[in-house]
Amino acid sequence: TKYVYLFGKKTDGNGTMKALLGGKGANLGEMCRIGLPVPPGFTVTTEVCTYYYANKRTYPAALTAQMQAGIKSIEQQTGTKFGDLKNPLLVSVRSGARDSMPGMMDTILNLGLNDETVEALAAKTNNPRFAWDCYRRFVQMYGDVVLGVQKRPDEDHEPFEVVIGHLKDERYGNHEMDDTKLSVDDLKELVARFKKLVKDRVGKAFPASPWDQLTGAAGAVFGSWMNDRAIVYRRKYNIPSEWGTAVNVQAMVYGNTGDTSGSGVAFTRNPANGAKEFYGEFLINAQGEDVVAGVRTPEPVSELKKHLPDAYHELERIRGVLEKHFKDVQDFEFTIEDHKLYMLQTRNGKRTAMAALKFSTDMVKEKLIDWQTAIMRNPADQLEQLLAPVFDLAEVKKAKVIATGLPAGPGAATGRIYFNADRAVLAADKGEKVLLVRVETSPEDLRGMIAAEGILTARGGVSSHAALVARQMGKVCVCGAAAVQIDYEKKVANIAGQKFSEGDYLSIDGTSGTVYAGQIKTAPSEIIAGLIHNDAAAKKTEKFKDYVQLMKWCAQVTKLKVRTNADTPEQTANALAFGAVGIGLTRTEHMFFEGERIDAMREMILADTTADREAALAKLLPYQREDFLGIFKALKGFPATIRFLDPPLHEFLPNTKEQQADLAKKLGLPVEKIVTRVHELHEFNPMLGFRGCRLGIKYPEITRMQARAVFEAAVAAKKKGVQANPEIMIPLVGFKKELDQQVELVHATAAAVQKETKVKFAYSVGTMIEIPRGALTANEIAQTAQFFSFGTNDLTQTCLGMSRDDSGSFLGAYQEAEIMKKNPFASIDQTGVGQLMEIAITKGRATRPDIKLGICGEHGGDPDSVKFCHKLGLSYVSCSPYRVPVARLAAAQAAV
Ligand code: ADP
Ligand code: MG
Ligand code: MG
Repeated sequence: TKYVYLFGKKTDGNGTMKALLGGKGANLGEMCRIGLPVPPGFTVTTEVCTYYYANKRTYPAALTAQMQAGIKSIEQQTGTKFGDLKNPLLVSVRSGARDSMPGMMDTILNLGLNDETVEALAAKTNNPRFAWDCYRRFVQMYGDVVLGVQKRPDEDHEPFEVVIGHLKDERYGNHEMDDTKLSVDDLKELVARFKKLVKDRVGKAFPASPWDQLTGAAGAVFGSWMNDRAIVYRRKYNIPSEWGTAVNVQAMVYGNTGDTSGSGVAFTRNPANGAKEFYGEFLINAQGEDVVAGVRTPEPVSELKKHLPDAYHELERIRGVLEKHFKDVQDFEFTIEDHKLYMLQTRNGKRTAMAALKFSTDMVKEKLIDWQTAIMRNPADQLEQLLAPVFDLAEVKKAKVIATGLPAGPGAATGRIYFNADRAVLAADKGEKVLLVRVETSPEDLRGMIAAEGILTARGGVSSHAALVARQMGKVCVCGAAAVQIDYEKKVANIAGQKFSEGDYLSIDGTSGTVYAGQIKTAPSEIIAGLIHNDAAAKKTEKFKDYVQLMKWCAQVTKLKVRTNADTPEQTANALAFGAVGIGLTRTEHMFFEGERIDAMREMILADTTADREAALAKLLPYQREDFLGIFKALKGFPATIRFLDPPLHEFLPNTKEQQADLAKKLGLPVEKIVTRVHELHEFNPMLGFRGCRLGIKYPEITRMQARAVFEAAVAAKKKGVQANPEIMIPLVGFKKELDQQVELVHATAAAVQKETKVKFAYSVGTMIEIPRGALTANEIAQTAQFFSFGTNDLTQTCLGMSRDDSGSFLGAYQEAEIMKKNPFASIDQTGVGQLMEIAITKGRATRPDIKLGICGEHGGDPDSVKFCHKLGLSYVSCSPYRVPVARLAAAQAAV
């Protein structure tokens, strides 16, 4: 078996081989193939990782020889030799999963150095300080990452850093002096002390043989695949542990030889706002990880032109080559050694939703991609970010700018500031809007960042931790606002001569990078302003135009229609503005809670006789009719699926003593009567109790009233020139006879209204499929039902035998134990609930081939569930108004 793939002059792999070579290895190969300057090396495949774990952490026998051949190939291409005393080869050892993954072993640089080769490197480069700096870094990195010499719980500082601090104290009386001031002799002494530290901690000498160093480092990469952090990360992002990681071994190039060298990271376009501009940063005289580590503040990549113009122009050229070749925005790493540029990595860049939108529409204009690809480039679950509010323009003009930083995560955020993640989380839990303000962030701050509306840092560039996380999570973020001076101990920030304590308000604009004092009112996103408020200025913005373009493309491919769940004319109008083509679910009971209606509703519930109930229902009728008329008008002819009364009646009755006494007074009834009725209506398991069509079966007058309200509204609409298209939906049906009985009432009422008004109207009657018996007997039910709508909330509850409202106490443990990958109430359980849906579809169509099929319920706005519905061949999904764009995008993606 081939376990080692070369890249360089001869390249075995290519960019499509990410499963075998990992993302980094595959793209290193691809860059070599298109002639980019990449230091030669080889990739040890992910299959070795799999073998390693399947065989008690041992390696395949053939591996050693293949790795030796790999080293030989690097030696030939570079004219150096591993462990040589004249011209030693040094390599980096880099882990490489399919996607870069936190928790994996850190990269080891300068491997191959020992007491002899370091002298060779010093002599060859005529730069002993450089050679010993490399050696010092290597022993420290290797000791930490491979040999595990790390901070113990009883220690406050990293042990290697303690050693450095001691030496600086001893020799210069200043333990905080800059590393770059250390002399060759200091560095030599440090290497000696580091090696002693290793010996003391692990009981073994630091490996001197380059080959031992190499196998040790490779082993550590494979070992890190199963460390706790990596496992937690994989669980969170659903990455199977079988994938494994690859190991890349690559000839070193040196960014730290002096002022003609450097190292950096860059994006081919701006990943925060999508602008077509070169974006990134670099450090002169630095080795790779210095840029990300934030020890020194990097310069923006455009400044490189001044320092090293030749390398800069080469970099600009490569920027173009990368985009042309990969046809997507690239995030890449480079090092310059004595004016010569080398590429060390490239991958598709992470981006905000706003950048994704602009990249995709721009690239179609540039003919780099086609519009179908553009649809796929916008992650559906991030689309909502584009709908998030921005600062109100008028308010911003009045606000005081106190600092500026890098615009790292677009959007507007106002909140009370906190300087520590724990306190930010606590405040957010209390319902406060929070901004997390830090000098810089680290992985420990993650919880606080999630809880915050926005993140503000004083230090750090566009590849800092804060910027990275903001891009990934879609958080508003301004980073590197140097004017923000934070005193963690006193819990204050001094900004432009003003003092801000914890709990004070700040506002940040992550699109422009501006920091304002105090609170600023927000305004709707340009997309909402344009679509819903018909705002002319908003419609001229690029964001709005790009969004409209994207949705046009979506409409061109999509098969699945998107409707909305709406109970009011306003919600309906909003959803239509977003492109919904009708209502998939109107929950009529929501209308009963408003204003005085609840009194009539309660009167109905408390009634002892049918006559009393009918009298109370007569009071509700005009309200419902008006509501339906409003909705029909807002719908402008689009269909409306109207669900009849569904929840258990006790939900409408007052619960507290005061409320009950109040109601008794209003209705002129003794309070005992109300207390008794509440008691009677109490259920042990209301979800499976007296609800759904069971209400209308016991009290047919309720169904009759609701049907009458719908039909009279349809007549009123028609008189106003609006075509109503009501689809009456009977909930919780498990038996054909339940539906028959209700449908008969509906038809009889329709006939009566048509006769009374002498107006004809169209309507249909169908049912929700939301309990397993309904799905299993769908062939019978379809004899009566003209349409099915899957009520996936209840279908999930009843299929899984799991109450949505009570599942919170154990679902976490279930997901932890990987019993279920996703919360089944958020994303359809495709294997279980999905099967019931398939049965219902097949059986329903057997009886009624043209039966209309849709889903309503929270799942209608979940991209994965939408794609599943497309696969099942449903005609529509229905979701809340603000999820309509998400569902439209997901539906289009399913069809591309
Ligand atoms: P990560 O996946 O964390 O980005 P990398 O393997 O990309 O880790 O390594 C981090 C950095 O180390 C790179 O950005 C690069 O600057 C530096 N590096 C890696 N390999 C080499 C090499 N062969 N020569 C010089 N620098 C290197
Ligand atoms: Mg990297
Ligand atoms: Mg239901």
